[in-house]
Amino acid sequence: MQARPAPYLDSLNPAQRQAVETLDGPVLMLAGAGTGKTKALTCRIAHLLTTGRARPNEVLAVTFTNKAAREMKDRVGALMGATVEGMPWLGTFHAICVKLLRRHAELAGLKSNFTILDRDDQNRLLKQLIVADGLDEKRWPARALGTVIDGWKNRALTPENVPVADSSAFDGRGVEIYAQYQARLKTLNACDFGDLLLHVVSIFQNHSDVLAQYQRWFKYILVDEYQDTNVAQYMWLRLLAAGHKNICCVGDDDQSIYGWRGAEVGNILRFEKDFENAHVVKLEQNYRSTHHILGAASGVIAGNKGRLGKTLWTERDEGDKVRLIGHWDGDEEARWIGEEVEAMQRGTRGQAPISLDDMAILVRASHQMRGFEDRFLTIGLPYRVIGGPRFYERMEIRDAMAYFRLAISPTDDLAFERIINTPKRGLGDKAQQKIQVAARSNGVSLIEGARLLVAAKGITGKGFKELEKFVAGFDRWHSWISEARRSHIEVAELILEESGYIEMWQNDKTPEGPGRLENLKELVKALEGFENLQGFLEHVSLIMDNESEQDGEKVSIMTLHGAKGLEFPAVFLPGWEDGLFPSQRSMDESGVKGLEEERRLAYVGITRAEAICTISFAANRRLYGQWQSAMPSRFIDELPEAHVDVLTPPGLYGGGFGAAAAPQSTLHEEAASANVYNSPGWRRLQSRAAQRGMTQPAEAKNITIDATAVSAHTAGDRVFHTKFGYGTVMGIEGDKLDIEFDKAGAKKVVARFIVAADH
Ligand code: ATP
Ligand code: MG
Repeated sequence: MQARPAPYLDSLNPAQRQAVETLDGPVLMLAGAGTGKTKALTCRIAHLLTTGRARPNEVLAVTFTNKAAREMKDRVGALMGATVEGMPWLGTFHAICVKLLRRHAELAGLKSNFTILDRDDQNRLLKQLIVADGLDEKRWPARALGTVIDGWKNRALTPENVPVADSSAFDGRGVEIYAQYQARLKTLNACDFGDLLLHVVSIFQNHSDVLAQYQRWFKYILVDEYQDTNVAQYMWLRLLAAGHKNICCVGDDDQSIYGWRGAEVGNILRFEKDFENAHVVKLEQNYRSTHHILGAASGVIAGNKGRLGKTLWTERDEGDKVRLIGHWDGDEEARWIGEEVEAMQRGTRGQAPISLDDMAILVRASHQMRGFEDRFLTIGLPYRVIGGPRFYERMEIRDAMAYFRLAISPTDDLAFERIINTPKRGLGDKAQQKIQVAARSNGVSLIEGARLLVAAKGITGKGFKELEKFVAGFDRWHSWISEARRSHIEVAELILEESGYIEMWQNDKTPEGPGRLENLKELVKALEGFENLQGFLEHVSLIMDNESEQDGEKVSIMTLHGAKGLEFPAVFLPGWEDGLFPSQRSMDESGVKGLEEERRLAYVGITRAEAICTISFAANRRLYGQWQSAMPSRFIDELPEAHVDVLTPPGLYGGGFGAAAAPQSTLHEEAASANVYNSPGWRRLQSRAAQRGMTQPAEAKNITIDATAVSAHTAGDRVFHTKFGYGTVMGIEGDKLDIEFDKAGAKKVVARFIVAADH
């Protein structure tokens, strides 16, 4: 077939072009962020097809997410126009393996219509096996074993070849139960997520004819984000490419961020060893980001020891420096970002207007999203959450809210059904049926039906005690709410504690467990803005209703992990505080492995930005209902000065706080000792700003930050509170002040959240 002219080749630089045109043999493109790896990979597919080197179904391309696969499909289609019929095999490892496994299911002992179990199913099945094995399910929870088994599957280990070193897992019973679990899946004609790869790898290993067939079939193999492949994926690729060795992998060791899920950055580093005579292409020109953004990212990643090291340069303008701003607390941070997003959209930040679609807020942990979602909903700023449900749609949040709903309104049968057996109380389908019957035949709500059933001893075994406890719990919580003697926050916390719901997630050993607990804490935090639980639930139902799918521009909110490979003209990186980012876990760990992975995540975050990158942190976060001062992230110290602008936080030094008068200044020294403004990071920021002759943040003395300042207020003083605004002190009681707020009415607040105001 005659090669057609290829206009897409003109859009590539010489190194990329080489990577695209070197079609035979192994090719490795190892290069930094934004250097056009994905672009080159896409052109390579187009090139293979338009030159007639391969028919579409002879090309196998693996991407990391379904979203990336869709984008690549679109781009390949656009590059080729209508010249080629059909589409390559393009998708994630899992998506491609499902297809393969359906074809050869019988070789894995399955039928081609096998079902794929989700986590819940997986855990239920494991639990049965654990109990049958005589192990105490409380001490040896199914979820924990699920994680261990996933880990083995990531390493392509079937029960027969789990190494001896792992044989002590799960009280020495792990491998045995793993084998039983696999057998059970087969009888159910089912597999779990990890099996998709594992089965296909096993089929390839055990059936050389099948492997040979695919080796011939997939003439060209391409892999994006190669640095994040795990052992099973790596074996799968090696097996498939072993014949012709036409494999092209692209990646960046500095962006390996899935080590916690079994990814092995070593895979990319040993590529040249595995594939002899590999053609290695280095790309050094970054096309995405401005000079300052690139400089800031390079500065941070330089702090990692275990890296190959790469040079990156850009022809793009200097651009704006990375903006760095500290806020009083998380609410202030969310408020400020909301305003910035709106200002950028209008183009009032001295730039051309930026579409909301071109802006993203990238968080380290998904619980951070709640503050932004609430704020954006309040001000009517359209947003989308990428890579997961929105905060109030998450499972644990809906469960918790169902508890609150039922505690407020005992007739809420939907809430009852949702939580009657969550956590597990031995009240399965049978017991629930009895409750339904009792309720219906007496014309009462489900919880009343349950009460009748308990009274009539119509239920036996463990379920009886549990149901009795369940009903009594709700009676208690309902009366607390009606009496309103305890704060609604306390009631909410107690409900989640006493119901065993928190404990359920504390015992959860899956990687998602800690995140769910964080989300629940975040939920309790959200209650603070409301008078009572009822008001909060109304707020949530209103905003959720409001948010029914609107079209049009939206700002994106997602995790740093989910942002891999993407780019946005404007990026916000909030919550750069030690303990949040880097995560507490990575800081507690011995050695630097965890911390280096966090640093790579910082690098991924900054390099998503094309033109405007804003990093922020809050001086105070609420943790377990207590305010804690937070330290700016250690990564902030690593940002090279030359590429950073320190902004003056308006909430702290201007606006309401600017009005803070001097009387507290003598207290500052004392108060500051427990405060972020005394931290080395903050002091450095201040001195940097001073050196550059920038607006010097007003001295922190203007802020009352400690309970010691209580004596500074007397009845009649005008004060300011971040949430309630201006007000007048009416009385003082220990460290609490009675304040009549101009807008929010009478409130009792802790003195340290109050500053003096002059009007
Ligand atoms: P990451 O490591 O973040 O995944 P990447 O190396 O895959 O980045 P791409 O996403 O392919 O980089 O490209 C980054 C940006 O640079 C894209 O907007 C792309 O269109 C542009 N780009 C890539 N190569 C060129 C080029 N030769 N000329 C102009 N623009 C380019
Ligand atoms: Mg890419």
